[in-house]
Amino acid sequence: MKIFNTETHQIEEFIPWNKEHIKMYTCGPTVYSYAHIGNLRTYIMEDILEKTLRLLGYNVTRVMNITDVGHLSSDADTGEDKMVKSAKKEHKSVLDIAKFYTDAFFRDTEKLNIKRPDIVSPATENIAEYIKIISKLLEDGYAYAAGGNIYFDTSKVSNYYRLTNHVKEELISGVRDTVEEDFNKKNKTDFVLWFTKSKFDAQDLKWESPFGLGYPGWHIECSGISLKYLGEYLDIHCGGVDNIFPHHTNEIAQSESYIGHPWCKYWVHGEHLNDASGKMSKSKGKTLTVSYLEELGYNPLSYRFFVLQSHYRKQLTFSFEALTGAENAYKKLKSKILNLKNSSTNEEIDSQILDTYKTKFKECLSDDLNTANAITLIYDVLKENTTPATKVATIEYFDQVLSLSLTKEEKNVVDEAYIKEMVAKRNKAKLNKDYALADKIRESLLEEGIILKDTRDGTTYEVK
Ligand code: AMP
Ligand code: ZN
Repeated sequence: MKIFNTETHQIEEFIPWNKEHIKMYTCGPTVYSYAHIGNLRTYIMEDILEKTLRLLGYNVTRVMNITDVGHLSSDADTGEDKMVKSAKKEHKSVLDIAKFYTDAFFRDTEKLNIKRPDIVSPATENIAEYIKIISKLLEDGYAYAAGGNIYFDTSKVSNYYRLTNHVKEELISGVRDTVEEDFNKKNKTDFVLWFTKSKFDAQDLKWESPFGLGYPGWHIECSGISLKYLGEYLDIHCGGVDNIFPHHTNEIAQSESYIGHPWCKYWVHGEHLNDASGKMSKSKGKTLTVSYLEELGYNPLSYRFFVLQSHYRKQLTFSFEALTGAENAYKKLKSKILNLKNSSTNEEIDSQILDTYKTKFKECLSDDLNTANAITLIYDVLKENTTPATKVATIEYFDQVLSLSLTKEEKNVVDEAYIKEMVAKRNKAKLNKDYALADKIRESLLEEGIILKDTRDGTTYEVK
């Protein structure tokens, strides 16, 4: 497989540390609010990458953190903790906020057919790990205490800017959040590993540590969780492009200083989804969430289809016109496939055609995750001169990675009030000993996919 590596700034052949077992880490959500569909674009890309690796035969362990502490309003360690701010606003505890938005996040990812990572770990559950790393960094001279906080000394690492292609901090700071000066820092790019003092004291969650009562910085959480669950040799680390600097740059600095050797081989970053006014953000106006799309009547998988039609390394602009276009194309495609499926009983599968397409599909994805070409292949399959069963089997194979539920019948949308009314009518008919009518009602519901079951406690139903 070939993949673009942010660290080397080029497409490379994927050669893992150990081909028997791929270790993959993906930065998780900061759970202070609902994920917007921009965030979810990144999680879709990561899902495709993980499923591609599995399709290619690799054994993968994927870990994701949940940021429930330490992510300040600015990635440069200034501003208020996002979680604390949200808890205050919603009059809840930080942990309640974290639980609520973590559950919401997984409901959204499920609707988008994004597989849950093998290990999901909240930042607050790994404090001992951060303390272990920070203690060693202090011992080895990579970190220092100043003004009560512990900082990482970025002047101690060579090649600090390697992810950003040596674009210096002066340039980068111009394009990111407003940078407030922290006079405790020896170098502008130094970052906080452990806070005991910051300009706000209203932090709910604090832990005892050798450095004082406090809480971890945002960057150390990902290094800590990754090292704890995946060890010192990581194959892939993913996130959105905004994570490249300072988050991932700082993760490399602290992880490699701690373990004393190269850490992650491939850095894979997804480009942003923008709206007409620019970068999407959780704090800007009406947040575009999966539930909002559903409220407007869109199928979440139409959004997945929309995203997969573009390359993950290209910026994508969201508009409702574009989403409507994707939804129409998706519905048309799916209905064609379902028609084929329903007409494909007991037919031979042409294994030669299936194998040819399996190879082509793997080639598309192995070409730096070219999902747009992979989708074009679906249309090619539909045009093939072969049996419907072959087409359906081929598309089912593709769907292991694309996860668009292309061959899955939608479950009947159940109108409960209607079923209750029909059950009441049937009960009345039975009471009147009009068994013919009672049976007729049962059969007509069955035709609609609703199975009635008479139990001692009354009639229940099941949807086929
Ligand atoms: P957050 O919850 O803010 O920590 O972000 C979660 C993930 O979404 C990170 O990997 C970010 O890099 C990514 N992300 C943030 N904004 C966007 C966007 N507009 N488009 C795509 N990915 C994004
Ligand atoms: Zn991270």
